[in-house]
Amino acid sequence: MRLVLLGAPGAGKGTQAALLKSEHKLAHISTGDIFRHNLKNNTPLGIEAKKYMDAGQLVPDELVNNMVADTLKNLEVDGFMLDGFPRTIEQAKFLDGITKIDGVILFAVSDEEIIKRLTSRGVCRDCGQVTNINEHKKCPSCNGELYIRDDDNEVTIKSRLKVFHEQTEPLIAFYKDKGLLFEVEAAGTPDEIFSRVQKVLRNDKD
Ligand code: AMP
Repeated sequence: MRLVLLGAPGAGKGTQAALLKSEHKLAHISTGDIFRHNLKNNTPLGIEAKKYMDAGQLVPDELVNNMVADTLKNLEVDGFMLDGFPRTIEQAKFLDGITKIDGVILFAVSDEEIIKRLTSRGVCRDCGQVTNINEHKKCPSCNGELYIRDDDNEVTIKSRLKVFHEQTEPLIAFYKDKGLLFEVEAAGTPDEIFSRVQKVLRNDKD
């Protein structure tokens, strides 16, 4: 199964990818995670990407496309979930040229809810789980330390949302036209959203 997880920042793509991974043998490819990993290791790619990430802007298509092509080439399992890619029509066309996608799951959630989620989002340093910092002081899964992402501040969140509406939302029509789009209401608990995702996959992907 080759899936694209589409949705605004904070729509829950990463959380749902982790749940999907526990049930299906799929690689989870998060372009944001790859950039953060590069940044942590001070690679030229990470240093270049940081300029855009800090401003809530998209890293140029060419850099992201090459990175994704390399990642897909080196995959050890057949199926994958792309989380945070594509984010522009240009990237979607590039993806079309290098692989076949079985479905695109769109996580639909309001801007108001996104701002609420991202301003209270903590990420575990040890296992990467996302959690609400108002409800938990430590990671509920592994008791690891929680941190707030540099780009989860109100100014950058607004800019990321604007970028989403302007540059990423056109992908909805792009994939709808291809008959690949499945929309999931992304309000509620992660488990509630996951059962909607499973329903979509049962009906359409078996
Ligand atoms: P994310 O973790 O998916 O929210 O991504 C964090 C940041 O990484 C984004 O705000 C962008 O600056 C950059 N980024 C991640 N994926 C992409 C992409 N497909 N195209 C361009 N920039 C990206």
